Amino acid sequence: MLELQRLDQISAALRTELEGMPKKLREADAKLIGDRAAVASAKEALTQALTQRKKLELDVEQWKERAKKYRAQSSSVKTNEAYKALQQEIGNAEAEASTAEDRVLEQMMAVEDAERRLKRLETELKESEKTIAAEKRQIEAQFAEKKKNWENATAERKATGKKLPPDLLELYERIAKKHPGTAMAQVKEGQCRACGVRVLPHTIQLLESDTDEEIFRCESCGRIFYSLEPIPHSTPNPSASGAANG
Ligand SMILES: [Zn+2]
Repeated sequence: MLELQRLDQISAALRTELEGMPKKLREADAKLIGDRAAVASAKEALTQALTQRKKLELDVEQWKERAKKYRAQSSSVKTNEAYKALQQEIGNAEAEASTAEDRVLEQMMAVEDAERRLKRLETELKESEKTIAAEKRQIEAQFAEKKKNWENATAERKATGKKLPPDLLELYERIAKKHPGTAMAQVKEGQCRACGVRVLPHTIQLLESDTDEEIFRCESCGRIFYSLEPIPHSTPNPSASGAANG
């Protein structure tokens, strides 16, 4: 029965690990999602910078166009005042064109910055993709190995169960349902190690005598008592058998 309990504990531990695998995979993916979002926002920023450059270039064109138009008109003005006003407009338009040209230069640098940033983030994303793909392969390999160990433990547990008298197995299963992995409780220092209740000295005496085959259970928690130190495992731990690969 102790062997049964040991195998149940191994199975349960392996199952918990197996159940945690999808979460590990999701966590690995979450890192990628962050890097992809960074690339997407850098792309968006570059698009905006390019749009802004285009707009500023158009401003330059428009101011130059306007100055050209005024210059063409200046030959056909009749009065001195109108001529002066037109000259003023030409000067103004040229100044605006020059300011807009400065802004275009500034914006070109902004575009270059955005391009560099995008390139850097894309490189980082590629690195992450490689790292995380390797990480996921490792998680999947571990999963396969642990699944195999779990199947072995389950099969071994089944075989061990069959060696027990059916009524004992039934009793064990019933208690194990209530106390998974701890259907058996050790009696130590006169106490049930599972719930701490005191055990009658007479019970301990019977429990410790090799000849007595009777089953004793804790009056408080219902677990099956054993008094000896658990026998060191003669069979190798299934989870250790494949560890050399991992
Ligand atoms: Zn107890």
